[in-house]
Amino acid sequence: MRLQDRLQQNKKEGKALLATNFYNFETLSAVLIAAKNTGSDIILQVSESSIKYMGLGVAKALARSAAHQYGVKAWLHLDHGQDVTLVKKCIDAGYDSVMIDASEKPFEENVKITSQIVQYAKGSATNVEAELGYISKLGQDQKMIYTQPNEAHAFVQDTGVNALAIAVGSAHGFYKETPQLQIDLVQEINTVTSAALVLHGSSGIPDDQLQEAIKNGITKINLATEIKNVFMTSLQKEFLRSDDIDLRKVFPKATLQATSLIEDKLRTINFLKTVNFS
Ligand SMILES: [Zn+2]
Repeated sequence: MRLQDRLQQNKKEGKALLATNFYNFETLSAVLIAAKNTGSDIILQVSESSIKYMGLGVAKALARSAAHQYGVKAWLHLDHGQDVTLVKKCIDAGYDSVMIDASEKPFEENVKITSQIVQYAKGSATNVEAELGYISKLGQDQKMIYTQPNEAHAFVQDTGVNALAIAVGSAHGFYKETPQLQIDLVQEINTVTSAALVLHGSSGIPDDQLQEAIKNGITKINLATEIKNVFMTSLQKEFLRSDDIDLRKVFPKATLQATSLIEDKLRTINFLKTVNFS
């Protein structure tokens, strides 16, 4: 099933898929083991910098063969594509999904750039995600410019985009204070747009808020920062504890920690875990 079809199905059923970034074999296997252990389908994401690091073809081959090896249904997605040329290359290479992120540009320009990618993807099976509103990026000031329902409606109609990342109170990176997702806004945007809604910056959002957001129209939840943090923190501890140079013995300890984090997130997103709604 194409990702855009699955996301539309999620929109109807009030369900969501987890989309996690991977950076190397270790983080990739952490994601896939977690998906397998919880019986979840998953979206594997690479950012532009991860493509620069691994190479576009290696990232794709790694994701595809690892998903096959672990027996997990997975879609491959380019996260936050800002370079139009690279986004087109991913479409040409058969990525299941791409994000064109022109959210920092004025509305009209965002429409223009996004439309260009939607047109380019026509005739391919690739899902196209865009962003509207302002979700602060890592290291940026965590100010909020919420996505407006009327703008979301116009944006989706003008571009024909499949999926839309919206700004409803989340941010990339760690939060300075507990975030408060605007659930009413999620619901309102979901009602006025045909696109499948995406939530970025889920690291640190309380479980009850994530579940409420899914019930009200979020179909894809992105997770990146927490994975990097758990993996690297665990590795740093391991280096202090041991001077073993066999990386095949050292890395799996960090992989295990990342797996446990992702499993926990999947249990929340798949409603396998009951949380108290306050
Ligand atoms: Zn993001």
